[in-house]
Amino acid sequence: MMMLDSIKEKAIEEHVPIIMDDTLRVIEKYLKEIKPKAILEIGTAVGYSAICFSRFLAKDGVIDTIERDEERIKEAKINIKNMNLENKIHIYEGDAVEILPTLNKKYDAVFIDAAKGKYPFFLKESLRMLSDNGIIFADNILYKGYVMSDYNKHKQRTAVRNLREYIAETTQNPNLKTEILEVGDGLAISKKVN
Ligand code: SAH
Ligand code: MG
Repeated sequence: MMMLDSIKEKAIEEHVPIIMDDTLRVIEKYLKEIKPKAILEIGTAVGYSAICFSRFLAKDGVIDTIERDEERIKEAKINIKNMNLENKIHIYEGDAVEILPTLNKKYDAVFIDAAKGKYPFFLKESLRMLSDNGIIFADNILYKGYVMSDYNKHKQRTAVRNLREYIAETTQNPNLKTEILEVGDGLAISKKVN
């Protein structure tokens, strides 16, 4: 079995919420076109999505990815090393809410895939660092259908409120062209225009 497949299978076995296949296919299609020099990922988990995305980087391109869970960081480092991607994927260890404001760099693509209640903040920080023609992907944007339903009593209502706010902000921003796709758990794709 290919090493990437075994990383994926182990993650699924251990209930690590890695990117779903159909979501990955969509993002890959865009990355193939963009050939990003720099990707920002919020939510590394065990490195699976970052490893997948790395195939589409421009020569000398890099991925900066943020993770706060120590066990997952440990495993991501092993996976990245085993795939010989230590020079391409850099993990920032800690809470993205604290780390993002310290970053100051241009990214051609951003993948938001962490705490749902923080999506509006992640958006604000991503927009600050997004290059012209850059693109932001936000996973789990429809959150099991809760986001588009009128059911408000769910215990995850803070997450749902913030995901709705993310959708409102991206669709109303005149500098963005946003699509919401029903792949996987929902994927928002916002492309910077002008
Ligand atoms: N992108 C990965 C999956 C990420 S799962 C993949 O597809 O392979 C979401 C991860 O985000 C979890 O590992 C969780 O620990 C991390 N996370 C959630 N909130 C975070 C935060 N505020 N800062 C840093 N990491 C966070
Ligand atoms: Mg996800």
